[in-house]
Amino acid sequence: MLSVRDLEVSFKTFGGEVQAIRGVSFDLYKGETLAIVGESGCGKSVTANTIMGLIPQPPGRIRNGEVLFKDRDLTKLNKKALREIQGVDISMIFQDPMTALNPTLKIGEQLIEGLRTHHKVSRAEAKRKAVEMLSLVGISNPEERLKQYPHQFSGGMRQRIVIAIALICEPELLIADEPTTALDVTIQAQILELFDEIQRKTGVGVILITHDLGVVAKIADRIAVMYAGKIIEIGNKREIFYDPQHPYTQGLLNSVPRLDLQEEELKPIEGTPPDLFAPPEGCPFAARCPYVMEVCERVYPATTQLTTQHTVDCWLQDERAQAVFS
Ligand code: SF4
Ligand code: MG
Repeated sequence: MLSVRDLEVSFKTFGGEVQAIRGVSFDLYKGETLAIVGESGCGKSVTANTIMGLIPQPPGRIRNGEVLFKDRDLTKLNKKALREIQGVDISMIFQDPMTALNPTLKIGEQLIEGLRTHHKVSRAEAKRKAVEMLSLVGISNPEERLKQYPHQFSGGMRQRIVIAIALICEPELLIADEPTTALDVTIQAQILELFDEIQRKTGVGVILITHDLGVVAKIADRIAVMYAGKIIEIGNKREIFYDPQHPYTQGLLNSVPRLDLQEEELKPIEGTPPDLFAPPEGCPFAARCPYVMEVCERVYPATTQLTTQHTVDCWLQDERAQAVFS
């Protein structure tokens, strides 16, 4: 339903131009959850914001690539055309529910307004829909709750309301950027369950941006791992968790606690990601990679197709490098 091709986005700063995304391609299939994971600064939020048309230009610049949705390239649309898509076909949820809600408006008004800005429906119809949405996200007594203000809800409830607002126009795609990071662990689990349930009920496609592999394990169908502005490995959940092929993905998985491996020590990946003002020509993980070879530092590895869904950008998987070493 969504196809991102060769996307390159940079930002002008006082220190120079940061190459935030350096050739990102992926597809999202109808009704699936694709998680984009990686450390902060890897380009995952920039990817989400580019899809949503939220990159301010300048200082941002889409240098190359396209975002195809319903036969249109979203990077080429004007503001008006983009607005027609935002919030209707594609909705976004951010980390902090308070920034998404207006503290001075009753939540009923915010839901109704969200719907009526984009669709010609009567107030009565919009209110009926608002009640339906609050029930969908698990808020009891919806009729009464519509009359309350955001501060009268807990953090977890506020995030449910944000999700209700995001869904009221029945979008085909929901982009969630760290939607549970600001919440405590029990509430996090409830919100993730809610995502699962909503997806089953509505069939909405979800792009989930997160640094939290626990979250990914719960709700993702496929996982794209980003590093230094590139997707270095992508595959279905089983492939990424049980058969990771990129040394960075392996490092990421080794750095989180696993219930089945209580004895083993957690090993954080040593070193830091490269400077994106002047990204390396070769593999950006080379400086931290335990398997680095001479070619890695000179040439960026090609994408190797491992299974129908699993691909990796690493010389270790490239037949040409293997030929040299065998
Ligand atoms: Fe390591 Fe080379 Fe693979 Fe990069 S391409 S992850 S440096 S082995
Ligand atoms: Mg982010």
